[in-house]
Amino acid sequence: MAIERINRTEEIMKNGIPIDMEAHYKRIHEREKQQEQEAAEARRLEKIRIDNMKCPLCKSQEKEHHVVSSSNGIMGPGYHSSPIMDYYVCKDCGIHYSDLNKK
Ligand SMILES: [Zn+2]
Repeated sequence: MAIERINRTEEIMKNGIPIDMEAHYKRIHEREKQQEQEAAEARRLEKIRIDNMKCPLCKSQEKEHHVVSSSNGIMGPGYHSSPIMDYYVCKDCGIHYSDLNKK
């Protein structure tokens, strides 16, 4: 975001248009706020989607999310781990299933 801000400022200066910096930053701020709200809304919808996801066998919505990660084996700085598998366990019938519509 910071780089974009600099580029935009340079662009405006190059064109020799007087800038109302306050309005300029207010616009950027408003756009950031809007993006934040959109991201929050996307997270909310994703949570609802997952909450509503049913067990493929018994159709129960009671489930536990499990994530299996692999690490590079380093303890301390340089430690890195990445999820290699994630799945849900149905609390009613116990089968494991994947979120097929995961984004
Ligand atoms: Zn089930």
